[in-house]
Parts: sequence; C-alpha cells; structure tokens
Amino acid sequence: DFLRRRLIAANWKMNKSIREAEDFAREFLQLIPDANSNERPEIVICPPFTTLSTLKSITEDYGVKLGAQNAFWEEKGAYTGEISPSMLLDAACSYVILGHSERRQIMGESNNIINRKVKAAVEAGIIPLLCVGETLQEREKDRAREVVKEQLVKCLKDIKLSGEKLVVAYEPVWAIGTGVNASSDDAQEMIAFIRSCLEKIYSREEADLTRIIYGGSVKEENIAEFLGEADVDGALIGGASLQAESLARIVRLS
Ligand code: PEP
Repeated sequence: DFLRRRLIAANWKMNKSIREAEDFAREFLQLIPDANSNERPEIVICPPFTTLSTLKSITEDYGVKLGAQNAFWEEKGAYTGEISPSMLLDAACSYVILGHSERRQIMGESNNIINRKVKAAVEAGIIPLLCVGETLQEREKDRAREVVKEQLVKCLKDIKLSGEKLVVAYEPVWAIGTGVNASSDDAQEMIAFIRSCLEKIYSREEADLTRIIYGGSVKEENIAEFLGEADVDGALIGGASLQAESLARIVRLS
C-alpha cells in the first residue's frame, strides 16, 4: 500500500552469540537487495541486547535497522537489570518490541505494564512494535476480538502518537513458534479489526498510516499469501529469522 511501507521484522528472541550474529549479518547483507532498491521492504532485526553493537557496526551502512525485544519504563536509576528506551536509542535501536506474548506469559507483563513501557518508548523517540493476540482458549471461546481490543485500548491508554510512530503486530499466541500459522484470511480479518480499533482510539487518518503486521510461524512458504492481504503491512518473524538465507528469502518475497 502506498500509504504504508512494508515492514519485515526479525525477532531473534534469546538466540545467538556475538560471533553467530556477526556471521548472520555478513551473509544476510549479501543476499538482500540494495538499501535504495524500491523493491526492498523496511528491515528491522531485533537481537538480544548483547549483540546490538556488533550488528550496528556491520549493518548500519546498509539501511538495515535495529530493534530491541524489551525496555523498562524509567529513564535511569536504581533498577538493577533493566534497560531504558534512551539507552536503546543510544545503542542505535529505532524500534522496540513491547508486549510480546512470551513476556506477557512467562514474565507476567500486564497491559498496564506494557502501557508504561510504550509511553516511555514513545517519549524517547523509539517506535514501539506493540504485540497483541489471543490464546487458543480465547479463540475457541470466540473472545479473540474482545481480547485484542482490550489489549489495544489498555496498552495505548493516554498515548498520543501519529500513525507512523507506532507499529502493531497481531500475533495469535497459538501460532507463535508452533508451526501452525493463522490463515491469511484470519490474519486479514483481525488486522482490519485492529485498524478499526485504532480509528476509534485515534482517527481514520492515523489508523490508515499505522502499520499492522502479522506474526506467528511466518516462513518463506507463506509470506506472500499474508502480504497479499489488503491490511497486512508486513511480518514479525521468530524461528524463520534465525537463518540468514531464510530471512533473506522472506525479504525478497516482500
Ligand atoms: C514471534 O515470536 O514473534 C514469532 C512470530 O515467532 P515464530 O515466527 O517463530 O512463530
């Protein structure tokens, strides 16, 4: 869509040593179109914090952007183990994944906590890549829309931002890391619903500018189908983003 540039974001989760990240980056850069090619989507790699600096040094001249997988809401101080959005900016991150289902489920992050993080990221000038999505149980009880709407309303509470300063990732929990992707119809339907929620929270104009991407077992075999849908603006990719060749193929198909 001419309004919204396609976005391919890699979520490496807790994977790769510095050496492995370096090898990935060198191979990946050889396999993707030039940065100025209009056939290239926006590319963001979200590695563990420990490999950000290595990736920056290799990818910065090639227009591949960096993102983090989490951030804290305070700016600095006595918060042992946490990292602030301004630190991420300093480490060359343009994006930060917030509200990923693994953090919601394993670390117990609530919509309220995620809201504080989104606020802090926006204030620091980092684009939040806000993840929402229902569990299998919620889908089976026909509560998927209700759950996703509540996540959006609560996570975006009191946050004023323009459509370009926010990315939403629809990641049905049952499709993450399972090999069972949502159908492209299901993704389109929910993403159109998310856009209608953003229209209510913000405005039609902002909703039209906000990129909403799909995540959950995306791979080279199914990326084209998702991107063929009118409201799907890209993908957040876990497992298939760990191999340079596989991520590069996804980029070339996007
Ligand atoms: C994710 O964790 O954001 C994700 C989409 O993982 P996978 O592609 O492995 O399902």
